[in-house]
Amino acid sequence: MAEPELKELLALVEATSEYASYLRELGVENIEVPTHVAQLPAARESAAPLKSESEQHLSPRQNAALRRNAVAAARAEQPKAAERVGPTLPPQSRPGVAGTVTHTSSEQTEMAKKKYPDADPPPPQETLFGTITPQDEESLPSSNETLEDIRRDIGECMRCPLCQSRTRIVNSEGNPRARLMFIGEAPGADEDATGRPFVGRAGQLLNKIIEAIGLKREEIMIGNVNRCRPPQNRTPTPAEAATCKPFLLREIAVVRPDVIVVLGNTAMKNLLDTKEGITRLRGQFMDYRGIKVMPTFHPAYLLRDPSKKRETWEDLKQVRDHLDTTAKK
Ligand code: URA
Repeated sequence: MAEPELKELLALVEATSEYASYLRELGVENIEVPTHVAQLPAARESAAPLKSESEQHLSPRQNAALRRNAVAAARAEQPKAAERVGPTLPPQSRPGVAGTVTHTSSEQTEMAKKKYPDADPPPPQETLFGTITPQDEESLPSSNETLEDIRRDIGECMRCPLCQSRTRIVNSEGNPRARLMFIGEAPGADEDATGRPFVGRAGQLLNKIIEAIGLKREEIMIGNVNRCRPPQNRTPTPAEAATCKPFLLREIAVVRPDVIVVLGNTAMKNLLDTKEGITRLRGQFMDYRGIKVMPTFHPAYLLRDPSKKRETWEDLKQVRDHLDTTAKK
């Protein structure tokens, strides 16, 4: 066998066994190798020109961001298989004790605005590449605060109605210098009881996903759009999300991860200005102010539909490959 063919075969074997072991670890039964895995080396090659072209001709980071989002949005225009709605966890019973107030609600909101005046993105604009929000054109401002400052501002937050039904505020957790950040929707029952993000069944699955890409949970940062559990695990309302999100955006500005993975529709729509659903946009790097963002399915959704773990693994492999091929900060 000629050397190029041998190399391709070895790469194929490696990718296949990696894929199979990931699926086994996640509990997928009857593992078969799908055709797109068999085409993996060719698929990698065909993806390469897009990356080098944007690096070559669109050197400023802002233009690269514009282009990535425009390409991703154009791809999303092509219809995919039946769109599915994002995850909603089953209703569960819940206790409800609000915490002690250290600042009034309006004082807290004022403090948040002062710390991060541009937390709300400016309105979208028409451009050559379609409708792009100006936030894409500006890279993230450097932050002069710490995660502790943000935590202090959050305090025993009573800025939105979710404070009435929560047990604990669930703050983001992890390495302040993380290269990778996961963002979910809002705490569930286990998180509400412990005050830690992603510790329930969905969190256990997320831990396996993190390990499958060769990382430890302590190395990354994990947060949610909302820090208080909504009643019956309903999706946070736009007003609840808008109240809590600025704290997450401030944390992103402090951590400055290389990649953010948004888990499910709510997290994706809150970080990226998009009307498309997760089924359309998953698996394509998007941009949040110069940071690469990979939308993928929420682990709670994967628990309900394990067949989606395959696509999630494809998305996470892209994240791993990007982290492996870019310099550590
Ligand atoms: N689901 C989320 O979106 N976040 C958590 O912290 C737990 C479950």
